[in-house]
Amino acid sequence: MRWSQTLVPTLKEVPADAEVPSHRLMLRAGLVRQVMAGAYTYLPLGWRAVRKAAEIVREEMEAAGAAELHFPAMSPIELWERSGRREAFGNVLLNFAFPRGDRKVHVALGPTHEEPITDLIKQSIASYKQLPLTLFQIQTKFRNEERPRFGVLRTSEFLMKDAYSFGTDIEQLNASYDAMYAAYCRIFERCGIPYLAVEAESGPIGGDASHEFMIPAENGEDSVVHCEASGYAANLERAETGRTAPQIVVPDDVPPMDAVATPGVSTIEAVCAALGVQPEQTLKTLLYTADAGTDEERTVAVVVRGDHDANEGKIRRAIGAATLSMADEATVRRVTGAPVGFAGPVGLEGVTLLADHDAVTVQPSVVGANSADAHRTNVCCGRDWTVETTHDLRDARAGDPDPKGGGPMKVVRGIEVGHVFKLGTKYSDALGAEYLGEDQKRRSVVMGCYGIGINRIVAGAIETSHDDRGIIWPKAIAPYQCHIIPLDIKDEEVMSLAQRFHDELEAAGVDCLLDDRKERPGVKFADADLIGLPTRITIGKRGLTEGVVEVKRRTDADPEKIAPDAAVARVR
Ligand code: ATP
Ligand code: MG
Ligand code: MG
Ligand code: MG
Repeated sequence: MRWSQTLVPTLKEVPADAEVPSHRLMLRAGLVRQVMAGAYTYLPLGWRAVRKAAEIVREEMEAAGAAELHFPAMSPIELWERSGRREAFGNVLLNFAFPRGDRKVHVALGPTHEEPITDLIKQSIASYKQLPLTLFQIQTKFRNEERPRFGVLRTSEFLMKDAYSFGTDIEQLNASYDAMYAAYCRIFERCGIPYLAVEAESGPIGGDASHEFMIPAENGEDSVVHCEASGYAANLERAETGRTAPQIVVPDDVPPMDAVATPGVSTIEAVCAALGVQPEQTLKTLLYTADAGTDEERTVAVVVRGDHDANEGKIRRAIGAATLSMADEATVRRVTGAPVGFAGPVGLEGVTLLADHDAVTVQPSVVGANSADAHRTNVCCGRDWTVETTHDLRDARAGDPDPKGGGPMKVVRGIEVGHVFKLGTKYSDALGAEYLGEDQKRRSVVMGCYGIGINRIVAGAIETSHDDRGIIWPKAIAPYQCHIIPLDIKDEEVMSLAQRFHDELEAAGVDCLLDDRKERPGVKFADADLIGLPTRITIGKRGLTEGVVEVKRRTDADPEKIAPDAAVARVR
């Protein structure tokens, strides 16, 4: 492609309203232009990067067994009313009515597509034999964001890859989820962007049911706690704003107060004081506080009854953070004297284990946790108690021990680029998407949803890879691989060599931008650094008389002089 045939309106000045590097650079390098707040046009270079990112996403989705389809952006508002999301989204859901004949058609523009796709599945799936199934699309989404900002990182109209899995049960859901999770890792690796997979708000399924993929970046809007040693990472802001409190379902006929282990009395008092409740009242809330073991290896366990929102951070501080954070299998066995039927650590925050109870068994959850590092545990104390716990990070700070390995955590900022989520039957229940099981019974389809912000891949790459001269593209999503700069465009030898490089490289699959503008070398070099293509070849009259052209990677300080005939091989 010749520069003169495309549109690359680079800017010298930094636009005043652009706060973050990716926004500034996308404007300056002529990748995007704003049409209105929250809506951007992708110019040819920007769109090429988007297309490359989208193609990587598409390839990996297909490799993971997902089939592509394509929905319209609009769908009837009734679907969103039936799912309850018209209300839940509020103003964020763009919707409007338009006349058709003598009636009005009311539609919503999809912020995601759970409703239309669940409706499609309701119409198209009849039997367990057709499941599991994962479908995806790459499509424009609409969200009336309260605060569109940071260029294309948060807009009202954006490109999302959204995938949805449909299965008969939790096992099928888990398998689809794991496949999507693995595909996400490959996608971000291939795109050349750094990422962290972090535990996120779990929603209706609870437990380990949602991960966000975050690009660590100073200007990210999310906060993530991260332990490098163990790899543990979780979204702190989710924890603060959206995390569901541990749900502990205990039958009404609870054991009497005197079942509380005596060594725990002081602990009960400390916990009650921290929570601002009376011990008697606490009996209804805190069933047991057991305190066992030696001082340095104290295991304190707290069971909280019903759907409470006791602040576990407070409890932990009241009794010392380390003691409530974690217990391993050996500790569980020692404290409970019970058989432990799984490997790996059990999050004991909010879980009671009765020191003197003889029928305690701890089992991995049957409802969606993955057993290796279950963060959700069923505790059966001779009766059917279900205890669901999540790591509560609402009060987490830098330096706190991580719930997996106990190493100190860091708090870093991140840009959410992807999100995988076990939905369960929320939408299939609401919209009636059922299948007929092998046993001839009808059940709701078990769903997962998986989103990636395509625009955020591009902006996130720039946010994490640039210098003061411009963008440094990761190879896989660079608009072009090679930038060919003829310095003397009137010189026939220079221009024909530039064209030859262009054609040979294109033929070898290396896409090229040939800067045929009548501009000074300084302008061309500055623009080349700004738009940041991985490799550039400079061809000058003077060099050719010495028998050389210059090849320079965007990351190199100095160009390398090589013979023209060696240039194409060097770039490939
Ligand atoms: P955020 O927390 O940043 O508002 P979200 O959690 O609302 O994002 P999801 O509903 O999980 O977003 O959508 C899936 C993906 O779509 C996100 O991970 C993100 O990459 C992208 N995305 C969401 N909202 C926007 C937006 N307003 N502009 C651009 N991309 C977005
Ligand atoms: Mg959002
Ligand atoms: Mg989010
Ligand atoms: Mg999200």
